[in-house]
Amino acid sequence: MEKRKYNCPECGTIMNETYEKPSLILSCPKCGCKIATTRWEEIDLDDKEYEIVLVANNSPTLDQIKVVSNITGVNFIKSKEIIVTGKPIFKGNPIQVKDIIKTLKEKLLDYSISPEFPY
Ligand SMILES: [Zn+2]
Repeated sequence: MEKRKYNCPECGTIMNETYEKPSLILSCPKCGCKIATTRWEEIDLDDKEYEIVLVANNSPTLDQIKVVSNITGVNFIKSKEIIVTGKPIFKGNPIQVKDIIKTLKEKLLDYSISPEFPY
């Protein structure tokens, strides 16, 4: 999906976008013109539940175990077991899922999401 660009109604410059839920604030870097609109992003309207499943990893690092322990709320031994066997670690709305996969990526943990995660 291509990102829409907004042009300043005063001078035509492409405006900066700041997303302050649920408003989109457009401000012109050239003349300072400001517009606030309401925009719901697709992810905000998605009420499906997504499940994150870790891909099995035989030798997780301490850091990776810590992260999984934080997400799942179980202790280190259980968390290590989850990583080694590759199990579901989270189920929830897409905004939460997005947050968690950001952390998983940082820690180089492989995962899959079902249903397919479009964000
Ligand atoms: Zn302008």
